[in-house]
This record gives sequence, C-alpha cells and structure tokens, in this order.
Amino acid sequence: MQYDYDLIAIGAGSGGLSVVERAVEYGKKCAVVEAQKLGGTCVNIGCVPKKVMWFGAHIAEALRDAPDFGFHVERKGFDWSELVKRRETFISNINTWYRGYIKDLGIDLLQGWGSFVDEHTVSVDGKLFTAETIVIAPGGRPLIPSETENADLGISSDGFFALTEQPKNVAVIGSGYIAVEIAGVLQALGTQTTLISRKDLVLRGFDDLIRQTLTDAMIESGITKEYHFKVKKLMRTESGTLSIESEDGQQLDGFDQVIWAVGRETVAEPLALENIGIQTNGKGFIEVDDSHQTQVPNVYALGDVTGQAQLTPVAIRAGRYLAERLYNHQPDLKMDLSKVPTVVFSHPPIGVMGLAEHEAYQQYGRDAVRIYQTDFTPMRYAFTKHQIKTAMKLVCVGDDQKIVGIHIIGEGADEMLQGFAVAIQMGATKADFDATIAIHPTSSEELVTMRPMILK
Ligand SMILES: Cc1cc2nc3c(=O)[nH]c(=O)nc-3n(C[C@H](O)[C@H](O)[C@H](O)COP(=O)(O)OP(=O)(O)OC[C@H]3O[C@@H](n4cnc5c(N)ncnc54)[C@H](O)[C@@H]3O)c2cc1C
Repeated sequence: MQYDYDLIAIGAGSGGLSVVERAVEYGKKCAVVEAQKLGGTCVNIGCVPKKVMWFGAHIAEALRDAPDFGFHVERKGFDWSELVKRRETFISNINTWYRGYIKDLGIDLLQGWGSFVDEHTVSVDGKLFTAETIVIAPGGRPLIPSETENADLGISSDGFFALTEQPKNVAVIGSGYIAVEIAGVLQALGTQTTLISRKDLVLRGFDDLIRQTLTDAMIESGITKEYHFKVKKLMRTESGTLSIESEDGQQLDGFDQVIWAVGRETVAEPLALENIGIQTNGKGFIEVDDSHQTQVPNVYALGDVTGQAQLTPVAIRAGRYLAERLYNHQPDLKMDLSKVPTVVFSHPPIGVMGLAEHEAYQQYGRDAVRIYQTDFTPMRYAFTKHQIKTAMKLVCVGDDQKIVGIHIIGEGADEMLQGFAVAIQMGATKADFDATIAIHPTSSEELVTMRPMILK
C-alpha cells in the first residue's frame, strides 16, 4: 500500500521533532502535526522560559550580595515586563528557526490538531494524511485539580509564563520540581511567596539530604512554607485578592495570584485513540514496550505521554533511538532509564543521578551500601550576609563501591552534574573518584575528596 508519508509524528515538541529529524537522515518522507507552537512545552512553556526567569533571579541574588564584595550598588527596581518581553522574543526566534530548519530538512509541517482515523490515517483538522508509521508525541499539560472548589481562580505554570506584570504576593501550591522552581524565581525577584504543600519537605522521591537542604534554603530565602495544608477551596475576596482554605479550616489571604504546580496530565483525548483501539492506563499515559511500541504495531508513543522520566533529553533520545531502530538496522538500541541525570533549577540548584540512599537500601540491602556525605558553605558565600549551603552525597554499593547515586545541592550543581554523569554512566567507582585530582578552589572538588560519613 502506498502512503503519503513513511512517518508522521503527532506533536512537534522534543520527542516528535527528534524522531522525524533523524528519520529524514535515512531518506524517509516525514511530517509533523502541531496544533500550537513548534518546539512544544520545553521551548514555549517549560525549560526555556523557566531558565530565563532563573537567570533573572540569579542576577537579583548577585545584586543582593554585591555590597558584600565591596560594590556600591542600589537596586532601583526590576521591570518584570521587560524581562518577559525579551524572553518571548528569544522564544519566538527559536520558533522561527525551527520552522526554517524543518523546511530545509524536507519535513512537512501539518498545522492543526491531529487525531486517528485508523492506524495508518491521521486527520489534521479534517484533512486526511496516511503514513506507514505513526508516532504519538503530544506531551502533557498542567493539572488543575477538579475536586478543589474554584480551582480555576488559580493559574498553572502556563499562566505563570503568561504574566506580564510582577505579582506582589503569590501562593504556589505543590512541592515538586516545578513548584520549587517557580517559588524560588518569584521570591528572588521580589515577590512575597508562600509555598503550600501537604508534606513538610519538598521534592518527594528525592534523597532526604536534598529535600531537607532545599526546604531549609527556601525558608531562609524568605519563602513562607505552609506544611500539611490540604487545599479545599479558592475564594476571590471583594478587594480582588485570593484566599485559600484548607480541609481543616485554616485560611490564607491576600494573594494576587495562586499558582497550581501539582503535576501534569496527558493530552491524549484529542487523538481519538479509541479509533485504533489504544487505551491509556489509569494515569492517562499511553503504555509502550521498551521499543516505544504501543498495542498497535505500526504506532509508537514517546515523551511525556508515556509517563516515563518527563524530561526533554529523555524524549529526544527516545525519538532518535526509535528512528535508528526503524530505519538504521539497530533493533537493540534501547534506553536505560535507570541512569538519567536531572537538574532542578531551584535556589540553590540541584543535580541528581541514580539512586537515593533509601532506594539503594531497598535495592541492595543496607550492608551493601556505603554513603559519603558532606555539607559546607561554599566560598561564594564565605563572607556574604546571605549564606547558602552546599550539600553532596555519593551512594556506593558492593565491594568495588560502584557509584549508583550522586546528589548535589548548591551553587553550580546544575553545571557540575553533567561531567560526573558521564563517569557514573561508565560505571565509575569511589576509587575512580578518589584517584581523580581535585580542581581547587571549587565546590565540585569535594566530590573527589569525600570521606565516608557512615561506616557500615
Ligand atoms: C514548567 C516546566 C519546566 C520544565 N523544565 C524542564 C527542564 O528544565 N529540563 C527538562 O529536561 N525538562 C523540563 N520540562 C519537561 C519538558 O518540557 C518535557 O519533558 C518535554 O517537553 C516533553 O516532550 P514531548 O515531546 O513529550 O512533549 P511536548 O514538548 O509537550 O510537545 C508536544 C507537542 O504536541 C502538541 N500536540 C499535543 N496534542 C496534539 C494533537 N492532538 N495534534 C497536534 N499537536 C498536538 C503540543 O501542542 C506540543 O507542542 C519542563 C516542563 C515544564 C512544564
């Protein structure tokens, strides 16, 4: 049977673009379907705008500390709308670049909402296109809990990026990475910020050292932390501000914005998956095997819609490997999701790869695990009024003390991790770290000079 394309990807985000980009290298005729802007979440409402705001916040922190280094500076103000304008111009340039780039590669852009007619046919706003292989990569969207009364008085991370004026007093609801990143940016830029969470520590699932150090740093920075607060309803007062009531009757008042950061859900429903017999799992994700194949043999899914490590480089790698398997005779090229380095752009930032201490105990047993840990005030903050701690942990297992987990929080952790990730990916042991000559004076030298904290 003759198809219009060898491959159609639904969604021109990190995953969809990467699979078509690699497939055309092998001479395949490809199209991407995109309803919104090219580049998807990461470029438009995720990593990129987030990192721009984080850089802005970083500059605010440097200005705060400048007098401690002898600078006579006066912070006369901060123009939020100017930063947002420049950020959006930067993003729009990326969108334009993408448009030219995929055109030059010979990839067709089918603009509109894609849905399945059958397993080889996609409808894009009513126009039909066929392909031998179809890749579903529609990403996700922020979750706004439907059970909370008046939940839609709040905004999500999408709404945060749409703010053109700086809010004065904000509540961020959530304790995951997006919650702590947004709260950190707002507080550093001068917005009074309250972080509302059900638990006492942020970042559930991370190592306890990271959770405790970040929670302490956030409180130290002036963020008000409301623990064990289960939001029941949002209310708009007569003066126009927002109030939040908890299930046990506590009330917090006076916010000009409330930001939900309680997770993300898939956008599978416009795809009409029922037309090809694909069912999503209980959490709304499309289940795939280790080749990213769905229940329908010629239909694959990748990126956030699969619920696997929801990160841009993971979606990109999945797309590239899929094209390699399909078109470059590499059937065994599979992703190893146990070794995904990740950074949280909090204040201070966090870099993590592999197992947390508690996970290593579960997986290998307590006797096989050895922990190396340190915390200190880095030289950057040695004589500043605001002192921000750094903490680090290595989780090692077995007689050869293979490093199965690295956890860093502190100034520079975001840039520090990638190089260490290469070593850990290659199977580095504690002896390899010990044998590496330190770079002085840096914070990262601590990672190659650590003594055991807990001797088993
Ligand atoms: C606030 C925030 C910060 C983040 N920060 C980071 C970070 O620092 N580092 C990191 O690695 N990751 C980060 N992420 C996660 C990252 O953005 C995602 O993991 C990544 O974008 C997933 O790629 P994807 O291809 O699965 O989906 P997306 O990038 O979301 O792309 C999906 C695309 O499909 C389109 N689409 C959906 N349905 C249809 C349809 N039916 N028809 C046509 N088009 C459709 C959408 O419009 C979208 O453009 C962040 C996410 C958020 C929300």
